[in-house]
Amino acid sequence: MGNRFVRVRFAPIKTLPAAPASPRGSASTTESLARFAHAESQQIASRKHNRSRKGCRDCRQRKVKCDEEFPVCRRCQQRGSLCQSEPPAHGWHLELPWIFAHASSDPSAPISNADSNLLQWWFDNTCHIMVLNPLINPLSYPILEHLAASPALLHTVQSISAAHQKYFDSRVITCFYQRSLALKLIHQELSSKQTPPIVLFLTIFMLGISSSWVDDSFQDFGKEHLLGAHAILDQILSDHENWEDPNVKTITGYYLFWDMAVSLLSESDELPVIDTPEVQGIVDKMENFFHPIGGYSVKIFYMLSILGRYFRTVLDKGQRDLLLELEWEDSLTNWVPRNEDPYLFNLCDAFRRKGLILLNQVKFLSPVPGFDVEEYVTKEIQDHARYAVRELLSVPVTEHCVTIQAIPLTLAASELTAEDANERAETLTRLKAIFSSCRVRTVLYAMSLLEQLWHLHDSGTRITYHELMLRKKWKLSLV
Ligand SMILES: [Zn+2]
Ligand SMILES: [Zn+2]
Repeated sequence: MGNRFVRVRFAPIKTLPAAPASPRGSASTTESLARFAHAESQQIASRKHNRSRKGCRDCRQRKVKCDEEFPVCRRCQQRGSLCQSEPPAHGWHLELPWIFAHASSDPSAPISNADSNLLQWWFDNTCHIMVLNPLINPLSYPILEHLAASPALLHTVQSISAAHQKYFDSRVITCFYQRSLALKLIHQELSSKQTPPIVLFLTIFMLGISSSWVDDSFQDFGKEHLLGAHAILDQILSDHENWEDPNVKTITGYYLFWDMAVSLLSESDELPVIDTPEVQGIVDKMENFFHPIGGYSVKIFYMLSILGRYFRTVLDKGQRDLLLELEWEDSLTNWVPRNEDPYLFNLCDAFRRKGLILLNQVKFLSPVPGFDVEEYVTKEIQDHARYAVRELLSVPVTEHCVTIQAIPLTLAASELTAEDANERAETLTRLKAIFSSCRVRTVLYAMSLLEQLWHLHDSGTRITYHELMLRKKWKLSLV
């Protein structure tokens, strides 16, 4: 076979990733949206798939024919119900028996003891729930060589796979059994120092992000793992030569995505310091690096991590630093995302606007008389919110990158007013589709939080999304 490690069957590919090294353009957002509308009209369903002939759950229960459109079938779209179906097969398909045959030549390799069902599900489905484009996914078959090196990683992957199969139902015993094995093994690997740091990082990262996926009480966003992952990243970044390594850039992006998503969920001094010279140093080198989760947004993730901590400090202690706020506002306002791919542009821009919304919400948390004019601040927030929601909703739901929209979409939509009834409804529809893709239940809880928040806002109560979440004692992570 052409590939030494794994045999891959290719299907015709309709969409190819944007060339990471294209020059930076300067078209305005409006132009980009116009290009978008054009692209949408010409769009070929990029998530075309082999029909399973089973249909989604809702259609099966109603005994009606399902068109199996992914992530939401047409009937579920019309009914407004949650669409639960087998995910589509992606462009390539791993032939797992071949992997096992290959791996078993070394009986001591951990992969020889793998659970083929769970591993197959990982490569076919689970590994794609957090990626912009399934064709550029380090958690897909590139992870195989790491699975062969780290039993902890193998059991982590199997644990997440088992939970994903069952919509992260917390009663899935296989998931917790695999998870407990992974936790035991990661401690051994950490002390034996045999496993490469990047593989240790990946294991801890995946154990950490999945903490919130399998926790029904929404208290656990994987804080201990976050601290562990940060310590490993710190160690890797302390050698400046590593800053050029694409694998190190990739794990830095993973870390910042996760950190950004949870930076408001803990008191700020409980989280690791993020704006170290090392993190800043590698982030500066990532401007033109295409990241599988963030595209070109890693710098914005970094800024949102800093801002999240600041928001939380203001919320808890009421202290603000007006000069710093002006500086951040300035750099967020003037930051232009790369625009060769309109869908990625919109995602990036929505994250940027999320930062501006947070900065303006801070003005309500602890207003400075004469400085923060309520009317002006409200208008700023609503303008950014409407724009970001429109940008995100204009990406066709069949685009894979929609799975990364939950974080900016939820915050922006939380500031929509009663006048934006259509956008509110479409946001809920979009979040249902995201749930159909990723199956992570925090998305459903975020939807319920949004509905409660809109009700409060409409009856005249001014409260932010994160304040309401904390009041409910939830720590909802949308990674
Ligand atoms: Zn259906
Ligand atoms: Zn359906």
